[in-house]
Amino acid sequence: MDVIRESEGKLLCPTCSSDQVHLGFVQGEQQKFSTRITGNRVVTLPIRLHDKDGSTVELKMWCENEHEFSYFLEWEQGSVYVECSQGRLSKEKPAPEMWIRQ
Ligand SMILES: [Zn+2]
Repeated sequence: MDVIRESEGKLLCPTCSSDQVHLGFVQGEQQKFSTRITGNRVVTLPIRLHDKDGSTVELKMWCENEHEFSYFLEWEQGSVYVECSQGRLSKEKPAPEMWIRQ
């Protein structure tokens, strides 16, 4: 399944190929801290050291068909590794929204 519609450069949901995708948050973990950027705040918290040497960036997204997914970018020893996790949006809490219309 394609994750990018190359003719338009649009990111697609990896579960259903919808192009109605929202960016939820960006989170970076570096050494002892984790920073999450959402539509209305930036929060940095201390974390336990993870057992890997590198840094990670999570791009949390969701589509309008209630699928959520994250791309994890992990830098380790000079290379960037990409993983994608997929699931369903929680019905109990609102989906995070990175870009909010003011
Ligand atoms: Zn979807």
